Amino acid sequence: MRAMVLDETRRPLRAVDLERPVPGPGQLVIRVRACAVCRTDLHVIDGELPDAKPHLVPGHEIVGTVVETGRGADRFRIGDRVGVPWLGWTCGQCRYCSAGRENLCATARFTGYQIDGGYAEFAAADQRYCFALPDTYDDVAAAPLLCAGLIGYRALRMTGDAERLGIYGFGAAAHIIAQVARHQGRRVFAFTRPGDDKARRFAETLGAVWSGGSDLPAPEPLDAAIIFAPVGALIPAALRSTARGGTVVCAGIHMSDIPAFPYRILWEERVLRSVANLTRSDAEAFLALAPQVPVRTHTEIFPLAAANAALDRLRAGELEGAAVIVP
Ligand SMILES: [Zn+2]
Ligand SMILES: [Zn+2]
Repeated sequence: MRAMVLDETRRPLRAVDLERPVPGPGQLVIRVRACAVCRTDLHVIDGELPDAKPHLVPGHEIVGTVVETGRGADRFRIGDRVGVPWLGWTCGQCRYCSAGRENLCATARFTGYQIDGGYAEFAAADQRYCFALPDTYDDVAAAPLLCAGLIGYRALRMTGDAERLGIYGFGAAAHIIAQVARHQGRRVFAFTRPGDDKARRFAETLGAVWSGGSDLPAPEPLDAAIIFAPVGALIPAALRSTARGGTVVCAGIHMSDIPAFPYRILWEERVLRSVANLTRSDAEAFLALAPQVPVRTHTEIFPLAAANAALDRLRAGELEGAAVIVP
């Protein structure tokens, strides 16, 4: 099968021919129909996340059809369409797994990081972490739901009932979560890269009541903010724009260092927290909600051989919505 692999960090992916995967016990082999590109892929490729699998196939927002099932894999049938997310395996026994917090399992393994992912014609996945997808989405439209949507939704849940919601960084996750937030009756304030008028207009078409550069204060105090951009300097900026008792959620897996800031911008019961990974219950809740909103994903399609171009476009901040690779 054709695949794109990471031989060395900070180098372009290489197009190769690999053996098609064979399903182990409890696994499915999926013919990949679409795989969205996530900023985490860049962090893996750039070596900002350590210890990726050698000769990794990246990609963790996979939509495909089941072509083969391993021993004991009976949740899906040949021909079923499934989605495969970032969380690829957990131990099921530790104190986190036992308490519905499998996203924090210390021995969890992740798709497109420790497990080969979807930048390929086929992928193997543990059936327990595969999901049926809403019929109203075609393969390309569904792919960004699987990380930008799922982890974005987990971050949104962490903001509680915040009515005035700031979103910093208006990429794939923000464009989905802004639609959900508006559907829930929240007001969205979109903070983009200073001078990025295109991103501002995009945010406003998705229902933001205000948009502006991330160097500006919010026009009114925010009840919560979600930071999707991997920029630590946005944390003090968001805290300064947040009302007493408000929450700032960092939704990315990696961020540049956070500059020192005065305690008074955290005081008055402001909360600063991160969100890590996802649970299967996040996925079930979000995939049920998305068609009701309905969330519409904006995508730009790239053939598999152009995966490096998709990554470059993401790195340069040139995408509107999400890049999706179609093998
Ligand atoms: Zn565990
Ligand atoms: Zn992701």
